Amino acid sequence: MAASAPESLNLRNPFFQKWDTPYEVPPFHHLRPVHFLPAFQSAIRRHNDEIRTILRCRTAPTFRNTVEALEDSGELLDRVIGVFSALVEADSTPELQATALAVGPLLSGHQDDIHHNEALFRRVAAVYEHPGPLPAEGRTLLERTYRAFLRGGAGLAPAKLARLRLVNAELSLLCLKFEQNLREETNAFLLVVDRPEELAGLSPESVDAAREAARMADRDGSWAFNLHSPSLWPFLEQARDRGLRQRMLEAHVARCDRGNARDNNRLAARIAALRCEKAQLLGYATYADYALEDSMAGEPTEAYALLGRFWPPALALATRERAELQQLLAADLPGARLQPWDWRYYAERVRETRFRLDAQALRPYFSLEAVREGAFRTANRLYGITFNERKDLPTYHPDVLSYLVQDRDGSLLGVYYADYHARPGKRGGAWMGSFRSQWHKNGRDIRPLVYTVANFPPPLGGAPVLLDLQEVRILFHEFGHALHGLLSRCRYRSLSGTATAQDFSELPSQIMENWALEPEVLGMYARHYRTGEALPAGWAERIHQSQAFNQGFATTECLAAAYLDLDWHSLGSVEPVDAGAFERACLERIGLLPEVPVRHHTPWFASSMGGEYAATYYTYLWSAVLDADAYQAFLDQGSPFDPDTARAFRTHVLEMGGSEDPAVLYRRFRGRDPGVEALLGKRGLV
Ligand SMILES: [Zn+2]
Repeated sequence: MAASAPESLNLRNPFFQKWDTPYEVPPFHHLRPVHFLPAFQSAIRRHNDEIRTILRCRTAPTFRNTVEALEDSGELLDRVIGVFSALVEADSTPELQATALAVGPLLSGHQDDIHHNEALFRRVAAVYEHPGPLPAEGRTLLERTYRAFLRGGAGLAPAKLARLRLVNAELSLLCLKFEQNLREETNAFLLVVDRPEELAGLSPESVDAAREAARMADRDGSWAFNLHSPSLWPFLEQARDRGLRQRMLEAHVARCDRGNARDNNRLAARIAALRCEKAQLLGYATYADYALEDSMAGEPTEAYALLGRFWPPALALATRERAELQQLLAADLPGARLQPWDWRYYAERVRETRFRLDAQALRPYFSLEAVREGAFRTANRLYGITFNERKDLPTYHPDVLSYLVQDRDGSLLGVYYADYHARPGKRGGAWMGSFRSQWHKNGRDIRPLVYTVANFPPPLGGAPVLLDLQEVRILFHEFGHALHGLLSRCRYRSLSGTATAQDFSELPSQIMENWALEPEVLGMYARHYRTGEALPAGWAERIHQSQAFNQGFATTECLAAAYLDLDWHSLGSVEPVDAGAFERACLERIGLLPEVPVRHHTPWFASSMGGEYAATYYTYLWSAVLDADAYQAFLDQGSPFDPDTARAFRTHVLEMGGSEDPAVLYRRFRGRDPGVEALLGKRGLV
């Protein structure tokens, strides 16, 4: 079938028809990869027509005829993007990948065309200067729309605008190259082990996976380990062979570093220099100033101040943890000094003995089904909402489950899809998204279609999938994002659900992790998959307590990455620097312990250099402060299910999306600004 759409294909293209499915969910059973490119092209044309209609308006610009009209335009394009981006990440094919490559420049060009449309910007600016009385959400929309034009380059002199387009184009190429290098270098490493005694300490799951990996690499009968998370981290935590742990960690740390085939150091320096240039073209001193303008922190000094509040106590705690691990090591190997490849291994030994928690004995109590029901029941007790599985809704893969979500009074909140298992065609990690966001269309409340995706093990031979505690937290985390999307009650779709400031958007997800391992909640859902028995007495408390363990390590490795990221994006000069020297200076300034392996080295710091968390890696700590402080509001009332606190959190946070300043929303919920004490206490930093 040809990619250029003949009429007969367009007639059958679901994007050109009304969706007559229940709740107007995407008709996945009729969607084919070949439908997407013509749908994108046509949707962009239609969006341009809608914008021309706004410009043809003969009356003076008003909020309604310009800003709101622009916001409500592009509905078809949003619908195509919603479905396409979900598939390309969770169920990709070479055909979809090729479409993604073709569509990327189309979409960024379309965005630029809007922001560089002078007549349109003049109308928006006229409304901005004389807005008249507006409700709070309207004021937010006006502010955000106006700033989006400025941040996109509207109003720049032609020479600067031309340079900005070149900088953007080079940046997107370099970021792709950076990530491609990293992917290739990560995949290039394999540790093959031939002697069974070298496997000492490893769990049966790790050994089985390693045997399978060796078979795939034509080394049948051996065991192979790689640098992807499911192989690397269990190896560093469990392998008794110190020399092999060293080889794995050093290979991980050396990726894309100087002297390697794919050296990312110069790319990183160039990316930082270009981002600085972009920020300065747009009138900001540094890229961090540009990136944080729309955040809750507001400016880099605020982000640095928060890091500075946590760094000294975290470093002191890590130093105490180091002494304890050094003692364990000396008992094993008299005279040996603790090294970065020892930290995770001995930390796990402490966890086992101090909290008497055996990971293998825990798993049977955390079947995927039990944990999912635990998340649903938690939401039900907090907000009165219910989840009912639907077998009749089309999905993009047989693994995907779908649920109708209803409010306490039975009214529809939305549809929730859960796609849990790893499979070829799905990228790594876990995330949440929407096929359709909530908004009000011509006065009608359009309810959202929300999904979460994870990479839990696939079911083997009908046996239930058993999760570890980290996976339990991931399930609750993504479910928290889903609740943010599902409970939304906003007017505008660009401000609804999870469309909030980046350092605020992790509050609804991270706070759910508190419930996941709360003893009372564990009592509700953790059941042995065969016997149905609850956790043995005392285990729930010990699981809960073990979460505060090793937090000096966890906090300093995260904060060091946040400092490094902010430093890179606080450069005030467009002259590229020496990446290695730059990073060393940063880590020496803060005094990171040499035994703590950096969480992200510059040449493989993809979330910072690739763009998703450029200058905003600190948001992990920022959101952790918010979630600990917000959860404390429940505990202060004596129950993790306190109904008044739950109602306030739903009304002032979960339903409001990004419709108002997050600091204002938080204050309405909490009655005050967030405080750092709850997080300091939770991590043992006081
Ligand atoms: Zn998240």
